[in-house]
Amino acid sequence: MIIMKAEATKEEIANVVKEIKKYGLKADVSRGEYRTVIGLIGDESRVDFSHFATLPGVKEARPIETPYKLISLEYGQRFAGEGERRQIPVGGVTIGGDEPVFIAGPCTVESKEQLFRIAEAVKAAGAHILRGGVFKPRSSVHSFQGLGANGREEAEEALSWLREAGDKLGMPVVTEVRGEAQIDLVARYADIIQIGARNMYNQDLLSSVARKGKPILFKRHFGAGVDEFLSFAEYIAAEGNKDIILCERGILPIGKSKNYTRYTFDLASVPAIQKETYLPVLADPSHATGRRDLIFNMSCAAIAAGANGLMIETHYDPSQALVDAQQMITPEELKEVITACQRIHQLMAPVMQRG
Ligand code: PEP
Ligand code: MN
Repeated sequence: MIIMKAEATKEEIANVVKEIKKYGLKADVSRGEYRTVIGLIGDESRVDFSHFATLPGVKEARPIETPYKLISLEYGQRFAGEGERRQIPVGGVTIGGDEPVFIAGPCTVESKEQLFRIAEAVKAAGAHILRGGVFKPRSSVHSFQGLGANGREEAEEALSWLREAGDKLGMPVVTEVRGEAQIDLVARYADIIQIGARNMYNQDLLSSVARKGKPILFKRHFGAGVDEFLSFAEYIAAEGNKDIILCERGILPIGKSKNYTRYTFDLASVPAIQKETYLPVLADPSHATGRRDLIFNMSCAAIAAGANGLMIETHYDPSQALVDAQQMITPEELKEVITACQRIHQLMAPVMQRG
């Protein structure tokens, strides 16, 4: 990490970047209100930081010891200021702002009628962002794969419904990209691109999606430690895209006894991640628990843990949903969840310890 002096000139910054490139490394130039910080991307073990410290315009030069530097609290606060966290504005909604953000919608887009009916209901319930899967990651090739599996035309049609519903209701939309071939298409319609849990380790996908420059909803793999999760988020940041919304969605349960929940909701990871990085952290009680009867309690718990928002699967008739029916709640229940979460947030906000 190279911290420039407040009065450093453009030429001095360019000179530091040139010196970094001599090592075969890339430079991440982050300009804050007060100063510019430059991160080194790549293997910096051969870098002579004392040399950088002598360059004109440089205030301080030293290595950062974690595998995730560009998203680290330390790096972010050098250019953004003490206590500053990343706020990600998307279509009139701010993720990581003062209020928790609620993403809701079906697991999977099934028809235009289904999507619009759910979209209108979740909007009325207080949700800010609309979700809906078109390219679904499924454990079995024999189960419904989402409309994205029916060829490009149907995929595009389903994505256009999301866009239309979002525009009609004034809600930004998020949907998943499952493979590189889908990126251009999804980026044309979505405000936020989701990278699902199963793709957390797919570094080529992360880099390619990051280069689209859109905010990314990045879900933790169910087998990943927090450090690994953040290390892979760094692949997105290394492409110059720091609009990363991290999402805890449950990790694999342990023990041979009956699994009471689909995954184990690792809520301690939420404040723990917020102490490591300046990025916003959401939680997904739907996939984490896999149980609609636990969504209310676990949503409240996630907000109490300091989550910057929630993603909740919602359907007007959960039993009819083709995917994840067991974890869907109704729009009426969603309204109760949002109301309770907002009250909990209000109680906690003045005393919340973040970072
Ligand atoms: C989803 O949010 O649609 C989803 C499939 O979640 P995850 O990737 O966390 O399993
Ligand atoms: Mn789902």
